[in-house]
Amino acid sequence: TRTPVNVTVTGAAGQIGYALLFRIASGHLLGADVPVKLRLLEIPQGMKAAEGTAMELDDCAFPLLRGIDIFDDPNKGFEGANVALLVGARPRTKGMERGDLLSANGGIFKPQGAAINAHAADDIKVLVVGNPANTNALIAQAAAPDVPAERFTAMTRLDHNRAISQLAARTGAAVTDIKRLTIWGNHSATQYPDIFHAEIAGKNAAEVVNDEQWLAETFIPTVAKRGAAIIEARGASSAASAANAALDHVHTWVNGTAAGDWTSMGVPSDGSYGVPEGIISSFPVTTKDGKYEIVQGLDINEFSRARIDASVAELVEERDAVRELGLI
Ligand code: NDP
Repeated sequence: TRTPVNVTVTGAAGQIGYALLFRIASGHLLGADVPVKLRLLEIPQGMKAAEGTAMELDDCAFPLLRGIDIFDDPNKGFEGANVALLVGARPRTKGMERGDLLSANGGIFKPQGAAINAHAADDIKVLVVGNPANTNALIAQAAAPDVPAERFTAMTRLDHNRAISQLAARTGAAVTDIKRLTIWGNHSATQYPDIFHAEIAGKNAAEVVNDEQWLAETFIPTVAKRGAAIIEARGASSAASAANAALDHVHTWVNGTAAGDWTSMGVPSDGSYGVPEGIISSFPVTTKDGKYEIVQGLDINEFSRARIDASVAELVEERDAVRELGLI
Protein backbone atom coordinates (compact mmCIF):
# COMPACT_ATOMS: atom_id res chain seq x y z
CA THR A 1 0.00 0.00 0.00
CA ARG A 2 1.21 3.48 -0.89
CA THR A 3 2.13 6.07 1.73
CA PRO A 4 -0.42 8.89 1.66
CA VAL A 5 0.67 12.14 0.02
CA ASN A 6 0.35 15.19 2.29
CA VAL A 7 -1.57 17.96 0.57
CA THR A 8 -1.76 21.37 2.24
CA VAL A 9 -4.52 23.72 1.08
CA THR A 10 -4.62 27.33 2.28
CA GLY A 11 -7.83 29.34 2.26
CA ALA A 12 -9.54 26.00 2.74
CA ALA A 13 -12.78 27.57 3.96
CA GLY A 14 -13.16 29.77 0.89
CA GLN A 15 -15.18 29.24 -2.27
CA ILE A 16 -12.38 27.67 -4.28
CA GLY A 17 -11.44 25.53 -1.29
CA TYR A 18 -14.97 24.18 -1.15
CA ALA A 19 -14.87 23.27 -4.83
CA LEU A 20 -11.38 21.79 -4.52
CA LEU A 21 -11.16 19.66 -1.40
CA PHE A 22 -13.76 17.03 -2.29
CA ARG A 23 -12.14 16.38 -5.63
CA ILE A 24 -8.66 16.12 -4.09
CA ALA A 25 -10.09 13.58 -1.67
CA SER A 26 -11.66 11.61 -4.51
CA GLY A 27 -8.41 11.23 -6.41
CA HIS A 28 -8.54 14.01 -8.99
CA LEU A 29 -5.35 15.78 -7.88
CA LEU A 30 -2.82 12.97 -8.06
CA GLY A 31 -4.61 9.91 -9.39
CA ALA A 32 -7.34 7.46 -8.51
CA ASP A 33 -4.90 5.15 -6.71
CA VAL A 34 -3.04 7.70 -4.58
CA PRO A 35 -4.13 8.08 -0.93
CA VAL A 36 -3.97 11.61 0.49
CA LYS A 37 -3.87 13.35 3.85
CA LEU A 38 -5.30 16.85 3.84
CA ARG A 39 -3.81 19.67 5.88
CA LEU A 40 -6.12 22.67 5.81
CA LEU A 41 -4.65 26.07 6.60
CA GLU A 42 -6.88 29.01 7.44
CA ILE A 43 -6.69 32.30 9.25
CA PRO A 44 -8.23 32.21 12.76
CA GLN A 45 -11.57 33.62 11.51
CA GLY A 46 -11.78 30.83 8.93
CA MET A 47 -11.11 27.93 11.30
CA LYS A 48 -14.71 27.22 12.23
CA ALA A 49 -15.88 27.11 8.62
CA ALA A 50 -12.91 24.87 7.74
CA GLU A 51 -14.02 22.49 10.50
CA GLY A 52 -17.44 22.37 8.88
CA THR A 53 -15.92 21.48 5.53
CA ALA A 54 -13.82 18.79 7.23
CA MET A 55 -17.01 17.33 8.74
CA GLU A 56 -18.49 17.06 5.25
CA LEU A 57 -15.30 15.46 3.95
CA ASP A 58 -15.62 12.88 6.73
CA ASP A 59 -19.19 12.27 5.72
CA CYS A 60 -18.15 11.31 2.20
CA ALA A 61 -16.14 8.34 3.52
CA PHE A 62 -13.69 8.82 0.65
CA PRO A 63 -11.61 5.63 0.29
CA LEU A 64 -8.44 7.59 -0.56
CA LEU A 65 -8.70 10.16 2.25
CA ARG A 66 -6.44 9.09 5.12
CA GLY A 67 -6.78 12.10 7.41
CA ILE A 68 -7.72 15.78 7.74
CA ASP A 69 -6.01 18.27 10.04
CA ILE A 70 -6.80 21.95 10.34
CA PHE A 71 -4.33 24.66 11.33
CA ASP A 72 -4.04 28.41 11.63
CA ASP A 73 -0.26 28.27 11.98
CA PRO A 74 1.64 27.93 8.68
CA ASN A 75 4.55 26.22 10.43
CA LYS A 76 2.21 23.37 11.31
CA GLY A 77 0.10 23.53 8.15
CA PHE A 78 3.07 22.89 5.85
CA GLU A 79 4.72 20.22 8.00
CA GLY A 80 5.60 17.29 5.78
CA ALA A 81 3.68 18.75 2.81
CA ASN A 82 4.39 17.11 -0.54
CA VAL A 83 1.97 19.34 -2.44
CA ALA A 84 0.86 22.82 -1.36
CA LEU A 85 -2.03 24.69 -2.95
CA LEU A 86 -1.87 28.32 -1.88
CA VAL A 87 -5.41 29.51 -2.49
CA GLY A 88 -6.10 31.95 0.35
CA ALA A 89 -5.10 35.51 -0.47
CA ARG A 90 -6.08 39.05 0.33
CA PRO A 91 -8.59 40.16 -2.30
CA ARG A 92 -8.38 43.62 -3.78
CA THR A 93 -11.06 45.75 -2.18
CA LYS A 94 -12.50 49.00 -3.43
CA GLY A 95 -10.06 51.86 -3.41
CA MET A 96 -7.10 49.60 -2.65
CA GLU A 97 -3.88 50.60 -4.41
CA ARG A 98 -1.66 47.97 -5.96
CA GLY A 99 1.04 48.63 -3.35
CA ASP A 100 -1.46 47.96 -0.54
CA LEU A 101 -2.56 44.74 -2.23
CA LEU A 102 1.00 43.56 -2.71
CA SER A 103 2.00 44.34 0.85
CA ALA A 104 -1.12 42.66 2.30
CA ASN A 105 -0.30 39.57 0.28
CA GLY A 106 3.36 39.79 1.23
CA GLY A 107 2.19 39.42 4.82
CA ILE A 108 0.59 36.11 3.83
CA PHE A 109 2.97 34.60 1.26
CA LYS A 110 6.30 35.52 2.86
CA PRO A 111 5.63 33.62 6.11
CA GLN A 112 4.10 30.78 4.11
CA GLY A 113 7.25 30.53 1.98
CA ALA A 114 9.38 30.52 5.12
CA ALA A 115 7.22 27.79 6.66
CA ILE A 116 7.50 25.70 3.48
CA ASN A 117 11.27 26.18 3.59
CA ALA A 118 11.46 24.99 7.17
CA HIS A 119 8.83 22.26 7.35
CA ALA A 120 7.70 20.88 3.98
CA ALA A 121 8.86 17.54 2.57
CA ASP A 122 11.91 17.50 0.29
CA ASP A 123 9.79 16.84 -2.77
CA ILE A 124 7.39 19.76 -2.13
CA LYS A 125 5.55 21.14 -5.14
CA VAL A 126 3.79 24.49 -4.73
CA LEU A 127 0.95 25.94 -6.79
CA VAL A 128 -0.15 29.51 -6.08
CA VAL A 129 -3.77 30.27 -6.99
CA GLY A 130 -4.42 33.33 -4.79
CA ASN A 131 -4.03 36.59 -6.69
CA PRO A 132 -1.88 38.29 -7.79
CA ALA A 133 -0.77 34.68 -8.25
CA ASN A 134 2.51 35.11 -10.16
CA THR A 135 3.88 37.69 -7.77
CA ASN A 136 2.57 35.92 -4.67
CA ALA A 137 4.45 32.85 -5.93
CA LEU A 138 7.59 34.95 -6.31
CA ILE A 139 7.26 36.23 -2.73
CA ALA A 140 6.85 32.70 -1.35
CA GLN A 141 9.72 31.39 -3.49
CA ALA A 142 12.08 34.13 -2.34
CA ALA A 143 11.29 33.25 1.28
CA ALA A 144 12.26 29.60 0.68
CA PRO A 145 15.95 29.67 -0.30
CA ASP A 146 16.50 25.97 0.47
CA VAL A 147 13.73 24.78 -1.84
CA PRO A 148 14.63 24.61 -5.56
CA ALA A 149 13.01 27.70 -7.11
CA GLU A 150 11.31 25.67 -9.84
CA ARG A 151 9.04 24.04 -7.27
CA PHE A 152 7.10 27.31 -6.99
CA THR A 153 4.53 27.75 -9.72
CA ALA A 154 1.52 29.98 -10.41
CA MET A 155 -1.75 29.01 -12.00
CA THR A 156 -2.51 29.99 -15.59
CA ARG A 157 -4.24 26.70 -16.34
CA LEU A 158 -7.68 28.26 -16.00
CA ASP A 159 -6.73 30.77 -18.71
CA HIS A 160 -5.37 27.87 -20.77
CA ASN A 161 -8.59 25.89 -20.39
CA ARG A 162 -10.72 28.94 -21.15
CA ALA A 163 -8.74 29.57 -24.32
CA ILE A 164 -9.17 25.96 -25.48
CA SER A 165 -12.89 26.18 -24.87
CA GLN A 166 -13.23 29.47 -26.80
CA LEU A 167 -11.20 28.12 -29.70
CA ALA A 168 -13.27 24.93 -29.80
CA ALA A 169 -16.49 26.97 -29.85
CA ARG A 170 -15.26 29.16 -32.68
CA THR A 171 -14.01 26.32 -34.89
CA GLY A 172 -16.48 23.59 -34.04
CA ALA A 173 -13.61 21.32 -32.96
CA ALA A 174 -13.73 19.09 -29.91
CA VAL A 175 -11.66 20.35 -26.99
CA THR A 176 -9.66 17.13 -27.19
CA ASP A 177 -8.59 18.00 -30.75
CA ILE A 178 -6.86 21.19 -29.56
CA LYS A 179 -3.20 20.88 -28.60
CA ARG A 180 -0.22 23.12 -27.88
CA LEU A 181 -2.08 26.20 -26.84
CA THR A 182 0.00 28.61 -24.77
CA ILE A 183 -0.73 31.26 -22.17
CA TRP A 184 2.22 33.64 -21.83
CA GLY A 185 2.95 36.13 -19.07
CA ASN A 186 0.91 37.19 -16.08
CA HIS A 187 -2.39 35.77 -14.82
CA SER A 188 -4.01 39.16 -15.32
CA ALA A 189 -5.74 41.14 -18.03
CA THR A 190 -2.40 41.40 -19.88
CA GLN A 191 -2.01 37.63 -20.30
CA TYR A 192 -1.50 36.46 -23.86
CA PRO A 193 -3.29 33.34 -25.14
CA ASP A 194 -1.27 32.25 -28.18
CA ILE A 195 -2.75 30.05 -30.89
CA PHE A 196 0.07 30.45 -33.45
CA HIS A 197 1.68 27.18 -32.34
CA ALA A 198 -1.59 25.49 -31.43
CA GLU A 199 -3.04 22.66 -33.47
CA ILE A 200 -6.62 21.72 -34.17
CA ALA A 201 -6.86 18.08 -35.23
CA GLY A 202 -3.30 18.34 -36.51
CA LYS A 203 -3.70 21.60 -38.45
CA ASN A 204 -2.23 24.93 -37.39
CA ALA A 205 -4.89 26.72 -35.32
CA ALA A 206 -4.08 30.23 -36.54
CA GLU A 207 -4.45 29.03 -40.13
CA VAL A 208 -7.72 27.26 -39.35
CA VAL A 209 -9.08 30.44 -37.76
CA ASN A 210 -7.47 32.71 -40.37
CA ASP A 211 -8.88 35.88 -38.83
CA GLU A 212 -6.44 38.12 -37.00
CA GLN A 213 -9.16 40.63 -36.17
CA TRP A 214 -11.11 37.94 -34.29
CA LEU A 215 -7.94 36.97 -32.47
CA ALA A 216 -7.10 40.52 -31.41
CA GLU A 217 -10.58 41.85 -30.77
CA THR A 218 -12.59 38.86 -29.60
CA PHE A 219 -10.55 35.83 -28.59
CA ILE A 220 -7.82 37.47 -26.52
CA PRO A 221 -10.10 39.86 -24.58
CA THR A 222 -12.74 37.16 -24.03
CA VAL A 223 -10.16 34.85 -22.44
CA ALA A 224 -8.51 37.63 -20.44
CA LYS A 225 -11.79 39.07 -19.15
CA ARG A 226 -13.64 35.83 -18.56
CA GLY A 227 -13.31 36.10 -14.78
CA ALA A 228 -15.13 39.44 -14.77
CA ALA A 229 -17.82 38.09 -17.13
CA ILE A 230 -18.49 35.23 -14.73
CA ILE A 231 -18.77 37.55 -11.74
CA GLU A 232 -21.23 39.63 -13.77
CA ALA A 233 -23.34 36.59 -14.71
CA ARG A 234 -23.13 34.48 -11.59
CA GLY A 235 -22.91 37.18 -8.97
CA ALA A 236 -19.85 35.41 -7.55
CA SER A 237 -16.37 34.67 -8.84
CA SER A 238 -15.44 31.54 -10.72
CA ALA A 239 -14.69 28.98 -8.04
CA ALA A 240 -15.44 25.55 -9.51
CA SER A 241 -13.53 26.24 -12.74
CA ALA A 242 -10.61 27.72 -10.78
CA ALA A 243 -10.54 24.63 -8.55
CA ASN A 244 -10.73 22.39 -11.62
CA ALA A 245 -7.76 24.18 -13.17
CA ALA A 246 -5.74 23.80 -9.96
CA LEU A 247 -6.38 20.05 -10.09
CA ASP A 248 -5.38 19.97 -13.78
CA HIS A 249 -2.18 21.93 -13.07
CA VAL A 250 -0.94 19.58 -10.36
CA HIS A 251 -2.20 16.43 -12.08
CA THR A 252 -0.28 17.32 -15.26
CA TRP A 253 2.85 18.32 -13.30
CA VAL A 254 2.87 14.99 -11.47
CA ASN A 255 1.60 12.68 -14.21
CA GLY A 256 3.01 14.27 -17.39
CA THR A 257 1.80 15.89 -20.59
CA ALA A 258 0.64 13.72 -23.49
CA ALA A 259 3.10 13.08 -26.33
CA GLY A 260 2.92 15.96 -28.80
CA ASP A 261 1.12 18.29 -26.43
CA TRP A 262 2.07 20.81 -23.77
CA THR A 263 0.37 22.90 -21.11
CA SER A 264 0.74 26.39 -19.61
CA MET A 265 2.21 27.04 -16.19
CA GLY A 266 3.55 30.12 -14.40
CA VAL A 267 7.15 29.11 -13.59
CA PRO A 268 10.36 30.91 -12.65
CA SER A 269 11.90 32.14 -15.90
CA ASP A 270 15.30 30.80 -16.92
CA GLY A 271 15.56 33.65 -19.43
CA SER A 272 13.77 31.75 -22.20
CA TYR A 273 12.04 33.90 -24.85
CA GLY A 274 13.63 37.04 -23.40
CA VAL A 275 11.64 36.82 -20.16
CA PRO A 276 13.91 38.14 -17.37
CA GLU A 277 15.31 35.37 -15.23
CA GLY A 278 13.58 34.76 -11.91
CA ILE A 279 10.17 36.30 -12.53
CA ILE A 280 7.30 33.84 -12.46
CA SER A 281 5.76 34.00 -15.90
CA SER A 282 3.52 31.65 -17.84
CA PHE A 283 5.23 29.53 -20.52
CA PRO A 284 4.45 26.48 -22.62
CA VAL A 285 5.79 23.51 -20.64
CA THR A 286 6.02 19.78 -21.05
CA THR A 287 6.03 17.61 -17.94
CA LYS A 288 7.41 14.17 -17.21
CA ASP A 289 8.20 12.22 -14.03
CA GLY A 290 7.14 15.11 -11.81
CA LYS A 291 9.35 17.67 -13.58
CA TYR A 292 8.55 20.32 -16.15
CA GLU A 293 10.56 21.90 -18.94
CA ILE A 294 9.88 25.10 -20.82
CA VAL A 295 9.28 24.30 -24.50
CA GLN A 296 12.21 25.73 -26.47
CA GLY A 297 12.71 27.00 -29.96
CA LEU A 298 9.28 28.39 -30.84
CA ASP A 299 9.23 31.18 -33.42
CA ILE A 300 7.57 34.21 -31.92
CA ASN A 301 5.96 36.46 -34.52
CA GLU A 302 5.50 40.22 -34.15
CA PHE A 303 1.88 39.92 -33.05
CA SER A 304 2.90 37.60 -30.22
CA ARG A 305 6.11 39.40 -29.30
CA ALA A 306 4.36 42.68 -28.50
CA ARG A 307 1.79 40.95 -26.31
CA ILE A 308 4.28 38.76 -24.45
CA ASP A 309 6.48 41.79 -23.82
CA ALA A 310 3.56 43.82 -22.42
CA SER A 311 2.55 41.11 -19.96
CA VAL A 312 6.15 40.46 -18.92
CA ALA A 313 6.65 44.21 -18.38
CA GLU A 314 3.76 44.11 -15.92
CA LEU A 315 5.39 41.22 -14.05
CA VAL A 316 8.68 43.11 -13.90
CA GLU A 317 6.84 46.10 -12.42
CA GLU A 318 5.20 43.87 -9.81
CA ARG A 319 8.57 42.33 -8.98
CA ASP A 320 10.15 45.77 -8.60
CA ALA A 321 7.27 46.87 -6.36
CA VAL A 322 7.61 43.90 -4.00
CA ARG A 323 11.37 44.36 -3.99
CA GLU A 324 10.88 47.97 -2.94
CA LEU A 325 8.54 46.81 -0.18
CA GLY A 326 11.27 44.46 1.08
CA LEU A 327 9.12 41.39 0.35
CA ILE A 328 11.74 39.64 -1.78
P1 NDP B 1 -11.89 32.31 -3.21
O1 NDP B 1 -11.75 30.95 -2.67
O2 NDP B 1 -12.98 32.60 -4.17
O3 NDP B 1 -10.51 32.80 -3.90
C1 NDP B 1 -9.28 32.63 -3.27
C2 NDP B 1 -8.19 33.27 -4.10
O4 NDP B 1 -8.09 32.66 -5.37
C3 NDP B 1 -8.39 34.74 -4.36
O5 NDP B 1 -7.13 35.39 -4.20
C4 NDP B 1 -8.81 34.78 -5.80
O6 NDP B 1 -8.36 35.96 -6.44
C5 NDP B 1 -7.99 33.65 -6.35
N1 NDP B 1 -8.39 33.23 -7.68
C6 NDP B 1 -7.54 32.80 -8.63
N2 NDP B 1 -8.14 32.49 -9.72
C7 NDP B 1 -9.44 32.70 -9.53
C8 NDP B 1 -10.58 32.57 -10.34
N3 NDP B 1 -10.52 32.19 -11.57
N4 NDP B 1 -11.76 32.84 -9.79
C9 NDP B 1 -11.84 33.25 -8.54
N5 NDP B 1 -10.78 33.42 -7.74
C10 NDP B 1 -9.60 33.16 -8.24
O7 NDP B 1 -11.98 33.36 -2.04
P2 NDP B 1 -12.83 33.34 -0.71
O8 NDP B 1 -12.83 34.75 -0.26
O9 NDP B 1 -14.07 32.57 -0.86
O10 NDP B 1 -11.93 32.49 0.28
C11 NDP B 1 -10.65 32.86 0.66
C12 NDP B 1 -10.34 32.10 1.91
O11 NDP B 1 -8.96 32.28 2.17
C13 NDP B 1 -11.09 32.58 3.15
O12 NDP B 1 -11.61 31.46 3.80
C14 NDP B 1 -9.99 33.25 3.98
O13 NDP B 1 -10.23 33.09 5.38
C15 NDP B 1 -8.80 32.48 3.55
N6 NDP B 1 -7.49 33.08 3.72
C16 NDP B 1 -6.54 32.23 4.23
C17 NDP B 1 -5.26 32.65 4.41
C18 NDP B 1 -4.29 31.70 4.99
O14 NDP B 1 -4.50 30.49 4.92
N7 NDP B 1 -3.21 32.18 5.55
C19 NDP B 1 -4.84 34.01 4.06
C20 NDP B 1 -5.90 34.79 3.49
C21 NDP B 1 -7.17 34.33 3.31
P3 NDP B 1 -9.32 37.24 -6.67
O15 NDP B 1 -9.44 37.90 -5.33
O16 NDP B 1 -8.56 38.03 -7.66
O17 NDP B 1 -10.63 36.72 -7.16
